[in-house]
Amino acid sequence: MLSAIPLFSSSAPEPADRGFDACGAPDGGADPFDSLLARLRQEAAPFSALWEMTHACNLDCVMCYNAPLAEPELSTAEGLELLEQLAAAGVLRLTLSGGEILSRRDFFTLAARARALGFALTLKTNGTLITEPAADRLAALDPVQVDISLLGATEATFDAVAGSRNTLARVLRGVRLLQARGVRVKLNTLLLSLNVAERQQMVDLAQELGVVYEQVLKVSADDHGRDRAGQRQLSRQQMTAVYQADQTPFQPAARGASSRTCQVGLSSCVISPYGEVYPCIELRISAGNIRRQPFGEIWRTAPVLHELRARHTYGNLPECQVCPINGYCQGRCSGLAWKAHGDLYGADPTACRQAQARYEQQHPGQTAPQTPLQARAAYQATALPLPATGRRQPIQLLAA
Ligand code: SF4
Ligand code: SF4
Repeated sequence: MLSAIPLFSSSAPEPADRGFDACGAPDGGADPFDSLLARLRQEAAPFSALWEMTHACNLDCVMCYNAPLAEPELSTAEGLELLEQLAAAGVLRLTLSGGEILSRRDFFTLAARARALGFALTLKTNGTLITEPAADRLAALDPVQVDISLLGATEATFDAVAGSRNTLARVLRGVRLLQARGVRVKLNTLLLSLNVAERQQMVDLAQELGVVYEQVLKVSADDHGRDRAGQRQLSRQQMTAVYQADQTPFQPAARGASSRTCQVGLSSCVISPYGEVYPCIELRISAGNIRRQPFGEIWRTAPVLHELRARHTYGNLPECQVCPINGYCQGRCSGLAWKAHGDLYGADPTACRQAQARYEQQHPGQTAPQTPLQARAAYQATALPLPATGRRQPIQLLAA
């Protein structure tokens, strides 16, 4: 499963979307659906849930952040009970994700029950296991959308990212089988140093296929804190080049103390293969486990959810509030800040680099200022040993 910040999108641009409902920052609007969402968020009603059904997968992608545990994943009976509890709590939109959903033998049993309970279903799959019979059964679920990763425009690149063989051909077969059955497919590309050279080819391929398409930036460490894709993330210069090639209009945002960075904790959550309920895909602080407590009770009472609902605004983010380029920051993620340095209210290092890249694209020839996080890191890296007086030598903090 991917987790990312959008760069290119064939649909209307959104502020920040990691493929999860809560990542965007809009607080409603003229659209009746947006207004409904805004009301649900105000009331902290659980509109949307993403269930990571399994961590098993037939691929070995370099950016995968799944971290399987030694304990058993939810059984079929536990999964069916979870679905009942989500429906009873009022969840309307359900995303089934992995790992690879089709590697769960009981996937269609669980998905059929989810459909019968009336959820609007989104399915996230790597697409390589979609045969004709599987495509028939997926189409019969009548999903709102099936999300599939496009990780390269050539077989060699796709295989290098996915750690497998003939991946592109298998993914394209899956896409076409679904399209032939009238299923809406969305392709997502995580841009890495491994595939960024094929960026335009992937745009062209998606257009040729006639699918909705989005390119995103990689950002995540796994649940054990290992950053498998860290070395393959785009450099700031590569990000700037991607922005320069991208035609999506950009306006720096005005951010006040009460602006939320995202909608985490308000109307959506994630359930892990082991039944842990998390505020979102990146923020792996458990709110409770459905093996020990009903979902509805976790949603209403978990302290971490209350904390996020009440305090997740710029006024409580000391570094981001004073950041000289916070208007250029599109994807600050508390989960990534927490993974990077254990501070839920700190800055997100990938978002900092992305904001600098966006600044430099908007101001050709200028170097972006450092963010407070970067200035602090630079200070710590260059700080001289403490002299006998216990006072540090003065150092220029914001020397951009
Ligand atoms: S904390 Fe990160 S992943 Fe979670 S909703 Fe916010 S932006 Fe999205
Ligand atoms: S400090 Fe980094 S994460 Fe925070 S607003 Fe600035 S660029 Fe964004």
